[in-house]
Amino acid sequence: MIKSPKTIIIGLDGVPFGMIKGFAETGVMPCTARLISQGIFRVMRSSVPEVSSVAWSSMITGKNPGQHGIFGFVDLSPGSYKMRFPNFDDLREPPFWDMWEGESVIINVPSTYPARQMNGVLISGFVSIDFERSVHPKFLVPDLKRLDYRLDVDSQKAHSSMGLFLEDLDKTLDARIKAYRYLWDSSNWQTFMLVFTATDRLMHFLWEAYEDTDHKYHNLFLRHFEKIDGIIREIAGRISDEDLLIVHSDHGFERLDHDVYINYLLMQEGFLQLEGTGDIALDNVSYGTKAFALDPARIYLNRKGRYPCGSIGRTEIPEILDRLEKLFDSLRINGRRVVRDIYRKEQLYTGPCVENAPDMLLVGAKGFNLRANIKAEKLYDKGIFGGKHTQDTAFLMIRGLSTTSIVPDIPAISDIRAIAEKDRALS
Ligand SMILES: [Zn+2]
Repeated sequence: MIKSPKTIIIGLDGVPFGMIKGFAETGVMPCTARLISQGIFRVMRSSVPEVSSVAWSSMITGKNPGQHGIFGFVDLSPGSYKMRFPNFDDLREPPFWDMWEGESVIINVPSTYPARQMNGVLISGFVSIDFERSVHPKFLVPDLKRLDYRLDVDSQKAHSSMGLFLEDLDKTLDARIKAYRYLWDSSNWQTFMLVFTATDRLMHFLWEAYEDTDHKYHNLFLRHFEKIDGIIREIAGRISDEDLLIVHSDHGFERLDHDVYINYLLMQEGFLQLEGTGDIALDNVSYGTKAFALDPARIYLNRKGRYPCGSIGRTEIPEILDRLEKLFDSLRINGRRVVRDIYRKEQLYTGPCVENAPDMLLVGAKGFNLRANIKAEKLYDKGIFGGKHTQDTAFLMIRGLSTTSIVPDIPAISDIRAIAEKDRALS
């Protein structure tokens, strides 16, 4: 017997507040429009950096990266410049489903691979490597395969054929919908969370198709969101008004004008030096290096004792950070400011993992997509992507709250868990 009220969370990866608002007003998402009128609808801040692995880890734990330990899609192995890919095992705080009463069904939350023991069902989101290890409990694997379930869209296809990519995107969405219906009916859940991630891929590759109504793929772009609106309508219709329904994104999106390469800048300005004739990689950092970047714009000082060629002692840190801050603050491309926000780690993070945090974090100004990419041969260019993430324009929509006073005026993604927990305590 499922106790009421239940908690249902629908995640739309990367969808900005303005897009949802626009689609609600123009009739692309009529059900979403109804929900907006019934509950609260706010602009929400993402994590810093505004990438899915950090944002979703912050959402499910209700903590900041200094506490949960996920700072990006890549990290360096301790005591080296070797890249590694943190996964669910690296998360230092429990996700809400390990703490909340009752069974949970959790589908496609990024950075929850490999799936592990929990009370209910979990299907990992990207980056998931092996199908079997992405599903808990394991006996669901054959059922999901029968439904043609796909862990992620094959974005590689977009580089050769946009048509094939869009076909794959559609099939991935359809299979996700089938899996949600199957698990909705076959599980005795108290909490249900379903995340759609193809939205992010669509906006990276086809932001132009969203803005330009004459674009070849404009209608297809709208159809993807119409389909999602249909699922939101279906889910909203299957629950009662007392149940808590949360629909939100993990970061926002906007048009990408330029990719800007931070490690290239650091090299040009003498902060980063590589030696040897091998591959251009952080492995070749020399003693002369003061700072380097990891994606998207996390700046690490080359500290003594922390890295093999670390050369920065404690006393030098404030001066180097000041110089870096001046460099990023003064960076202009075609007369436009490139970096909107510059943070020292203490301004953003607290907790036991802060010592592993980047020393400085940058958020790009409008249109500028900051990247680390050590192989870049120029400061900036424009690649295949038409859209980029934003830190301050995610959205949060909630229906069924006991009181709206538990929602901050401008919530952060790490507030969602506490809002749901306060509401559960009140109802
Ligand atoms: Zn993205």
